[in-house]
Amino acid sequence: MLKSDGIPSYEELQTVLPPPERFAKGPVAIIECFQDIPCDPCVSSCPKHAIVMKSGITDRPRLEANLCVGCTLCVNCCPGLAVFVVDMTHSEKAATLTLPYECLPVPKVGEIVMGLDRSGKPVCEVKVLKVSTNKKYEKTWAITIELPKTQAMEIRGIKVAPGKRGSK
Ligand code: SF4
Ligand code: SF4
Repeated sequence: MLKSDGIPSYEELQTVLPPPERFAKGPVAIIECFQDIPCDPCVSSCPKHAIVMKSGITDRPRLEANLCVGCTLCVNCCPGLAVFVVDMTHSEKAATLTLPYECLPVPKVGEIVMGLDRSGKPVCEVKVLKVSTNKKYEKTWAITIELPKTQAMEIRGIKVAPGKRGSK
């Protein structure tokens, strides 16, 4: 849980997940930000005004899931690397996850990398579908991976294995 190891518990995660019916409509952001800190670039990053702080900059951000179009523009902006976009409609068995990434080497499109859980433990190999950045947050990449739907709420990081950079 957050207070003991910094990793949100299942119950804590339920407080930030969009409703199941929103996941059925396509890609949607998940904001895994649990602390009241003076920070708000996520709010201004969203062209749809889907991220709100009702009581000022120290409030926790809330997602208006019905306004989110899953564009992923918010993924690069968060200094806490706490914003993700999940698409559970990608295919019958696979979802996509767009996550923030600040390590080197930067993976390439088509590359197979290791998906990591919130504690950094390996979960399964995943395929990189898209690699993007923007001028404002050019040191944080947004990496979109294809992963099993069963792991879409577990995997929150990736590891590129040096010397094993082939693609499937
Ligand atoms: S994915 Fe796009 S629309 Fe959704 S919250 Fe992020 S920036 Fe806004
Ligand atoms: S930018 Fe990230 S850390 Fe800052 S309030 Fe938004 S989600 Fe939280």
